[in-house]
Amino acid sequence: MAVHVANEKRRDTPAAGPLDPARLRADFPILAATVRGNPLVYLDNAATTQKPRAVIDAIARYYTEYNANVHRGVHYLSQIATQAYDEARRKAAAFLGATVDCEVIFTRGATESINLVAHSYGRQRVLPGDEILITGMEHHSNIVPWQILCKETGATLRVVPVDDDGNLVMEEFDRLLNEHTRLVAVTHVSNALGTVNPIRDIAARAHAVGAAVLVDGAQSAPHMPVNVRELGCDFFVCSGHKMYGPTGIGLLYGRAELLDAMPPYQSGGDMILSVTFEKTIYGRLPSKFEAGTPHIEGAVGLAAALDYLNAVGLGAIAAYERSLLRYAESALRVVPGLRLMGAPRKRAGVIAFTMDAAHPHDISQVLDEAGVAIRAGHHCAQPVMQRFGVPASARASFALYNTREDVDALVQALHEVNRIFA
Ligand code: PMP
Repeated sequence: MAVHVANEKRRDTPAAGPLDPARLRADFPILAATVRGNPLVYLDNAATTQKPRAVIDAIARYYTEYNANVHRGVHYLSQIATQAYDEARRKAAAFLGATVDCEVIFTRGATESINLVAHSYGRQRVLPGDEILITGMEHHSNIVPWQILCKETGATLRVVPVDDDGNLVMEEFDRLLNEHTRLVAVTHVSNALGTVNPIRDIAARAHAVGAAVLVDGAQSAPHMPVNVRELGCDFFVCSGHKMYGPTGIGLLYGRAELLDAMPPYQSGGDMILSVTFEKTIYGRLPSKFEAGTPHIEGAVGLAAALDYLNAVGLGAIAAYERSLLRYAESALRVVPGLRLMGAPRKRAGVIAFTMDAAHPHDISQVLDEAGVAIRAGHHCAQPVMQRFGVPASARASFALYNTREDVDALVQALHEVNRIFA
């Protein structure tokens, strides 16, 4: 019969302590797969991460044991499903360091979270003559919604440039920031370069001129401890599927005071207190921003992913991945004709490169023959490609289950690229 899901401790949840990738790999069934006769070496984690058994099992348990709609029924299964959904929000709020649970809104992902803020906060607060400040290393999902908002409101989009190493030019940030800046929207970690941006500093300077700050945490939340209050941001967005959770679920953190004052983004069931044909009174946070039946399965799976991340420890993940990145950087440097894209002061998750011998698409095809999955293309960050004068790059991106052996397999396959194309 239905299980009690709240605070459930799974047997396969790893114990906190130093990170042991060999042990953690056993939690991810897909990592045992072979690709074209070779063991899978999965280095496309910035696109999406693989899922631990704990997440897969949590989703299966939801459907086999307590599937029901939330907030709508007094019957037993609905109560259990509602409890699981609310518990997921509690875990997400704790994970991000929110002050209260209702500061976390479930969305489809980072993209929808940004669109929610652009539509709701943006259309309410941004006026002609205002400015939105973004950076030259944003993912398209943190560019296009602001472009559209500016077009609709008569505001101007300003862009902080990126230097040759892939760092933000902070002198230019200071120059561009002014009393007209309504919002600063900046990525925490670049998905194209791996740059970790100085968010605390950026937020403090933005607040000093009265601008709000949105942080795109799609590439930071899986790799380092995140605390929205320590960062000092007003909004923070991330995607479940990049954090070992399911696709189709993401988080928007917003300061309660701001979310409270914002109009709904979508409307319909679940987001109201009362409806007559004359007047609708909207629900309170967080339901005001969650119209319709939510992604219950997604929230349950994401909660299991957050449990998993917490059990491994974000500090341990950050330290382990940092040393793996250092290893990868020096291993890649010995591949003839390979150029790393940028050398940011602080890097997380991602190393991008080009090769004299072959186009990134050809590189990734040769690597695929060896079972090594990387990404080639513009990574939904075309302005970064333009900045570095390339149409595309090859990108290896790392997760807590990657090892030095994975890096060695990557390097060996890159030598093969040179043998074939040089
Ligand atoms: N921002 C960054 C930095 C990303 O890397 C991505 C995904 N590649 C997104 C936003 C969008 O995430 P999603 O597609 O999950 O909405």
